[in-house]
Amino acid sequence: MHSTADQGLTLSRAVVTGAAGFIGSHLVESLLADGISVVGVDRRTPLRDPAAAANLGHVLDDPNFTFVTADLRTSPLVPLFRRADAVFHLAALPGVRGSWGERFAEYTACNVFATERVASACEDARVPRLVYASSSSVYGNSGGATDEETAPCPESPYAVSKLAGEQLCLAHARQAASTVTAVALRLFTVYGPRQRPDMLIGRALTAALGGPRLNLYGDGSHTRDFTYVGDVVGAALAAATGPLDTTVLNVGAGVSTSVLDLLSTVEELTGHAVPVDRLPAQAGDVDATLADRSKAAAVLGWKPHTTLLQGVSHQLSHLTARSLRP
Ligand code: NAD
Repeated sequence: MHSTADQGLTLSRAVVTGAAGFIGSHLVESLLADGISVVGVDRRTPLRDPAAAANLGHVLDDPNFTFVTADLRTSPLVPLFRRADAVFHLAALPGVRGSWGERFAEYTACNVFATERVASACEDARVPRLVYASSSSVYGNSGGATDEETAPCPESPYAVSKLAGEQLCLAHARQAASTVTAVALRLFTVYGPRQRPDMLIGRALTAALGGPRLNLYGDGSHTRDFTYVGDVVGAALAAATGPLDTTVLNVGAGVSTSVLDLLSTVEELTGHAVPVDRLPAQAGDVDATLADRSKAAAVLGWKPHTTLLQGVSHQLSHLTARSLRP
């Protein structure tokens, strides 16, 4: 299998790093549903980590799926990547708030050092396509819709680490001898079933359903471009197969929603108020994110299909089905 700017790729075998995570597990599911063989790599194993087991439980028995427990900071990667048509690199330490202070060493190791190892192994294994999960956080406090020409201005150590990871993938792909085309997808606040427990929508739904009260950082006027996980997976698949040169693309719904409006949506869908504890805004949390998605539309033919109401409703159904399970 090979990639050129004008031909695109057909996938028969893919590697997903961060496969046991929220977005990674959805991507694995979608690739398998398309008949593609998948090697999922994660340092969390479904055998010992209940969250990983919940994320991957329904695909572990699929004969086209191989799960490999490996830490990208240390494990040999070339043998894992050999014969892959695409590597989707989603493994990272996510989250802005935890990235300040002592834990930055781990953020650097998992988000920067490990990404350099992944990009380098893609080159050595002659992988045609590397799709990297970058983040809208690289833009910082932009004040309006950002396109890919907007100068990055990261506001947190996490955002710096994601920008570094993205640029490492691009730098490897630009080497004259490299056979890799790298596509960095700047993902805007992703939500949906199995969302990470630290993220807003899952916490708000849980609070409305009688779980722990929601810690609301700031006054709720800050806005986010909430993007449904199924739409993100669609963009990742298009980025892996499309006739592309090495590039950066925004993947966002393109809709600005304040946190207070989001809470109203949650209240509308659950029929319950969201009990809130108000806390000061946290360092690194930006006031607004919003994607200009024209470039992804032009080069991938990608557009989101899921409205916030539909997406939060799917997430709610998943949450209630899970809590009803014996
Ligand atoms: P997640 O925490 O659910 O998944 C990340 C996975 O990476 C975890 O299972 C973790 O164990 C694994 N991992 C971390 N370090 C590793 C290492 N050294 N070796 C092997 N595995 C390792 O996070 P997510 O929300 O699914 O995010 C996936 C990717 O998307 C991340 O790169 C994140 O930065 C990016 N992203 C997410 C969002 C979002 O809103 N969720 C937005 C922008 C970008």
